[in-house]
Amino acid sequence: MAEKWICAACGEKNDMENRFCIYCGTPKGTTVTAAPEQTQEAHLWICSVCMAGNPFEDAFCTHCGETRVCYECGKSMGKGEKYCPHCGIEAGKWKCLNCGGLQNGKNKFCELCGTKWYPPWEK
Ligand SMILES: [Zn+2]
Ligand SMILES: [Zn+2]
Ligand SMILES: [Zn+2]
Ligand SMILES: [Zn+2]
Repeated sequence: MAEKWICAACGEKNDMENRFCIYCGTPKGTTVTAAPEQTQEAHLWICSVCMAGNPFEDAFCTHCGETRVCYECGKSMGKGEKYCPHCGIEAGKWKCLNCGGLQNGKNKFCELCGTKWYPPWEK
């Protein structure tokens, strides 16, 4: 669980099972480090307006008041919802268009095939 690899392009830490950097899409290199894992950061959803992280219990952005949206379909979700009532995907996840892999909302690229995520609110 502590093992991470560092992206040669952007320097961000990725989980060992990620084959592509989730921040910039660069394929995994050979550099492997055992960086001590800090306690899992709180599960956050990212506001589509101000990009601030908010806890999943909050249905509204604590910074700008925007409603929480689904990463997959971009529709707003209710308070404490575990699954999107519109598309049924797990809260805070998105599905890769290329390989269908379920991705964490904080991933900007698919960790399996490197396909870029386009926020639904930008489509
Ligand atoms: Zn990277
Ligand atoms: Zn906001
Ligand atoms: Zn949805
Ligand atoms: Zn993929």
